[in-house]
Amino acid sequence: MRIVIKVVVLIWLLVGCIDQQGADPQQQKAEYSWTLITSWPKHLPGLGSAPDRFAEEVKAMSNGRLDIKVYGAGELYPALDVFKVVSAGDAEMGHSAAYYWQNELPAAVFFSSVPFGMSAKELNAWLYLGGGLALWQELYAPHNLIPFPGGNTDAQMGGWYNKKVTSINDFKQLKMRIPGLGGKVLELAGGLPTNLPAGELYTALQSGELDAVEWVGPYNDLAFGFHKVAKYYYYPGWHEPSTTLEFVVNQDAFAALPVDLQRIIENATKVVNQETLNEYVVYNIEALNVLANEHGVEVVAFPDDVLALLKDYSVEVIQQLAQQDRFFEKVLNSYQRFQFGVLKYNQVELDPTILE
Ligand code: CA
Repeated sequence: MRIVIKVVVLIWLLVGCIDQQGADPQQQKAEYSWTLITSWPKHLPGLGSAPDRFAEEVKAMSNGRLDIKVYGAGELYPALDVFKVVSAGDAEMGHSAAYYWQNELPAAVFFSSVPFGMSAKELNAWLYLGGGLALWQELYAPHNLIPFPGGNTDAQMGGWYNKKVTSINDFKQLKMRIPGLGGKVLELAGGLPTNLPAGELYTALQSGELDAVEWVGPYNDLAFGFHKVAKYYYYPGWHEPSTTLEFVVNQDAFAALPVDLQRIIENATKVVNQETLNEYVVYNIEALNVLANEHGVEVVAFPDDVLALLKDYSVEVIQQLAQQDRFFEKVLNSYQRFQFGVLKYNQVELDPTILE
């Protein structure tokens, strides 16, 4: 009995110490209600389920102390206003994709996707352990935002076309929805890129306002029904060999949380980052089978010579941006150093002399 009392007293003293050294006990008990806005239609498979899953994880892990309400694109703010709204503190969090901000922050593209760039596995390793996330946080810090990886779509498809692509000239005057550096590459090939949000794409393709659309991959594209308004589904997604999504958190809102809730947010983004990628890996192939076998979609490869030229144009676009923007050049150096190192390892099985 005496031992039990001693243990209880010891625990009481330890808890007292933790309270004294840690956060304000009142803050530990406080409940927080946050708003999370997104660039996607609410509950859209993959893109939309990522923030839903995040909010569920945070609520469960915090025992209800942090309740995050998720809003779809257009419910509170337009799809592509996520960065500026969360930066201003009008919502505590957002879920979107970093390359949407390339006009203001050219280097942001590295934190979503680069044409002919890294795979999902490689990109995640660079972000978490190769210095990528630190650079991303450095880029967003002046905007009062903290970014976290928020899922990866895996390799995307090349897009929906109503005319076949037989040469690079087929991109001339092509009106296509294609964001990020891929859009800049299309521009260099003579095309006319736009970045309409998801909800407007089907109608734009149907009406002829757009000649071609790339959105994500089979899992998301099937849900939008693009197969009803386009004949050909092209691969590979040269412009997005894998695409990281982002969570952004307003710095002031984050700083106002106790340390345990901050850690819960950080770790919940990691859970969602991996689970979302798993979801795409499983459902992309199922959806591609449905598109090809049930809807009769013609799945077509870009010709090799077209891909080779697109790769040359991509290098040109990236070199130009590196000359114009110091931070872009800094991130490019980190990205390429990591990518080349990883590629070397990937090639050892094929050619062990690479280590000599
Ligand atoms: Ca895309």
